[in-house]
Amino acid sequence: MAVYVDALRLMDALTAEEIMHVDLGEAFRKRFKNPYAVVHRGDLYGVFLKACRAHDRIEVRVSSEVAGYDQDGSGVSVRLASGERIASTALIGADGLWSNVRKQLVADGPPRVSGHTTYRSVIPTDRMAEDLRWNAATLWAGPKCHLVHYPLSGWKVFNLVITCHNDAPEPVAGKPVPRDEVMRGFAHVHEKARQIIDLATEWKLWVLCDREPVEKWVDGRVVLLGDAAHPMLQYMAQGACMAMEDAVCLSHMVEAFPDDLEKAFEAYRSRRVFRTTRVQLQSRAIGEHVYHPAGAHAHLRNAVMRAKSQEEWFDTLQWLYGSTGLNEKNFG
Ligand SMILES: Cc1cc2nc3c(=O)[nH]c(=O)nc-3n(C[C@H](O)[C@H](O)[C@H](O)COP(=O)(O)OP(=O)(O)OC[C@H]3O[C@@H](n4cnc5c(N)ncnc54)[C@H](O)[C@@H]3O)c2cc1C
Repeated sequence: MAVYVDALRLMDALTAEEIMHVDLGEAFRKRFKNPYAVVHRGDLYGVFLKACRAHDRIEVRVSSEVAGYDQDGSGVSVRLASGERIASTALIGADGLWSNVRKQLVADGPPRVSGHTTYRSVIPTDRMAEDLRWNAATLWAGPKCHLVHYPLSGWKVFNLVITCHNDAPEPVAGKPVPRDEVMRGFAHVHEKARQIIDLATEWKLWVLCDREPVEKWVDGRVVLLGDAAHPMLQYMAQGACMAMEDAVCLSHMVEAFPDDLEKAFEAYRSRRVFRTTRVQLQSRAIGEHVYHPAGAHAHLRNAVMRAKSQEEWFDTLQWLYGSTGLNEKNFG
């Protein structure tokens, strides 16, 4: 279901010229021992759901909002919004950006609103401009805005994810929005980049949020995972990847300390916290210094990024792609 893209490509959205690309071919695969894959969210969830349904120790329940938890030394009582209680050995709060488990465990208030608005659409491949049907994850960087596109689902569609920094004040998730409104934040970019927006008929918007990194992910037999632990801007395309690495690491630690869950949770936390903190902070920095600068700041970006060789780009990415993210020395 995944598409193995050949390059990560950065375009200047004002001139429509390539700034740089990272070649994801043989040399990348040899160095990092894996290809670079992009996959549709629905396709990925489908794989997980199928595996859960096939497992005799997993019961999938929907419409079961977790409101909070109580615990003593031997177990956790999970409170559902319906009033129902579920008695369990432990609780993994993987309930996303607005996590109720985190609300109780960390109690650090609502997420930080970034002021950046993202619009998303998916278009059939035959509607994508022919000269832009690149087998690449392509990013066009412009003043206070950027556009991303790449092929998905066995080349059936192109994913379009475009973002502008418009100081949006309130968090929003998945609200349908007309194309004219989408266009407003991109009036200043090159015609070729603007044409991409014209290709899609249906758009939805998100006002992006993240949080300051925290070190508290564990409370006795309760532990956080994924966005509940470390919500980040999507600028490194790593939120779901980090959630999956968390899950694998947590399973390994529970396997290593099956009789001491609190020890297992702490071992997991200490292996994951620096790496995810780095991705949270670097995602913000990339937005500011790579995706959205203007004028001299943008010219400096182009000069610095053009000067690097492919080998130097691999070195830059080593901390992220050069490890499985499962041990303590994985934050670069
Ligand atoms: C615009 C955009 C683009 C992105 N692009 C990428 C990308 O290219 N690559 C990448 O790796 N990541 C990307 N991400 C990030 C990625 O979507 C998230 O990091 C990822 O979904 C986090 O997974 P999660 O399982 O922790 O949380 P979620 O996917 O948010 O899942 C949380 C689940 O918990 C459920 N839930 C919530 N509250 C409760 C409750 N109280 N009780 C019970 N259930 C509850 C929700 O219904 C949901 O099913 C992007 C995000 C956005 C917004």
